[in-house]
Amino acid sequence: MTDICDDAQAAEVYIRLEALASVPFPDQGEAQRVEGGQVVCLDCGEPVAPARLAANPTVTRCVECQAEQEHLRRQLSGHRVT
Ligand SMILES: [Zn+2]
Repeated sequence: MTDICDDAQAAEVYIRLEALASVPFPDQGEAQRVEGGQVVCLDCGEPVAPARLAANPTVTRCVECQAEQEHLRRQLSGHRVT
C-alpha cells in the first residue's frame, strides 16, 4: 500500500537521480591524464598517489580533488555535510 509520503519520497529520489545524471562526475567516462608515465590529477595536475591507483586503477583525481567532487555530489544529492 502506498500513501502520499511514499509518492513524495519516490519523486524526490527521481529528482536527485536526474540531477546527478546531469553532472559530469569523476570515474564515469573521464580519461586519465598521463604525463611522464605518471597519472596526474585532472583538476590540479599533481601526480596521483601510487597507493590510490593500486586501490582503484581508474581514478582520475588526487585525494583532495576527489574529496571536493564528492562533497559537491553529496550537496547535489541533498545530503548535508556537517
Ligand atoms: Zn588534484
